[in-house]
Amino acid sequence: MGADAPLIALSAAARQVVVPCLPARSRAADRQGSLSAGARCTRCAGQVDCDGSHSRGVRARRRRPSGAEVPSPGGRFAAAYNLRVTLSSARINADLHCHSAVSDGTLEPEALAARAKANGVELWALTDHDEVGGQHRAMAAALDLQLPCLTGAEISVTFAGTTVHIVGLGFDADDPALVAGLAATRGGRRQRAMDMSKALAGAGIAGAYEGAAKYAGNPELISRTHVARFLVDSGVCTDTHEVFRRFLVEGKPGYVPHRWASLRDAVTWIRRAGGIAVIAHPGRYKFTANEEFALFTEFKAHGGEAVEVVTGSHTAAEFVKYADMALEFDLFASRGADFHSPEESHTDLGTLPDLPVRLTPVWEPLHDRVQRVS
Ligand code: AMP
Ligand code: MN
Ligand code: MN
Ligand code: MN
Repeated sequence: MGADAPLIALSAAARQVVVPCLPARSRAADRQGSLSAGARCTRCAGQVDCDGSHSRGVRARRRRPSGAEVPSPGGRFAAAYNLRVTLSSARINADLHCHSAVSDGTLEPEALAARAKANGVELWALTDHDEVGGQHRAMAAALDLQLPCLTGAEISVTFAGTTVHIVGLGFDADDPALVAGLAATRGGRRQRAMDMSKALAGAGIAGAYEGAAKYAGNPELISRTHVARFLVDSGVCTDTHEVFRRFLVEGKPGYVPHRWASLRDAVTWIRRAGGIAVIAHPGRYKFTANEEFALFTEFKAHGGEAVEVVTGSHTAAEFVKYADMALEFDLFASRGADFHSPEESHTDLGTLPDLPVRLTPVWEPLHDRVQRVS
């Protein structure tokens, strides 16, 4: 769908998203030049913000010698699976998954926005776990930096006995049902952290609750990441990944099972708040093929519309696997580093490969919910 259609044109000077348009179907419209004053674009029927310049993208593509590589926006190289393929909004440097100190990241929303901008991100979303408390700060900071952005959150869900994360994008961050649903989802975290602390004490590690609480900027969002930071800083492990491996995953001494939101509830909160639900980093779940099929099927049945294909949690082989799954299930595709911290995260904001251009980016149906300085 739309693999050869440049749906969001970039201003070369400003490197800003300037023309978000709905997917085009008309080749005749593609052949149009840019619009004269007052004319309506036949391609997108005069969407808000459209100046017809997506047509210029098509002309630029036609001039390019076949097989020549065009650097991605921000100077990145095209991913191998995109070589010899046309310009497309898949090449926008969108980063739609990261965490601030409002959940388990270490940077404040303003510092994350600045980092995204400095790294060449052109469309950004802050997606704190089970919390929208940082959204207004993130939006204000992004707008100050002329960085187009979407609202976001990452909701913890229990599916088939496993924790699954569902990202919501482009919703109304003040929607009462969404805000209440997130509050209920994070409500059990304090007790869980105390139970984890008790379990770790049984394994000879004392004071984990109090230790972790010092790292949690938002006490309601105390998480395994904060426990992990405490265990690194107190010298028990050398990095947070080692803490998870040795103590915090199923079967290890500090693991405490927890029941999060249902898949149906999470998707419904996001949809009713006007957003799009995205299966986050599907490659991370330890599902059998049948369980994974059930997750995608039920997610769709509840109204879920997108999947993260290019994420910091996926290998290159998983980019391809979940690109295929996106097509099989007719889902939009998302891209995001899942950045948490300069010290801990392997993938920085804005540094991932592009989405495969055979997919339809999730930012296309969200074009009218992008916040930007006009
Ligand atoms: P929680 O929501 O309290 O269960 O914590 C989940 C968070 O822990 C994830 O969002 C990641 O930030 C972090 N996490 C999970 N697994 C690992 C791992 N193996 N290494 C480092 N961080 C991890
Ligand atoms: Mn996290
Ligand atoms: Mn996650
Ligand atoms: Mn995340």
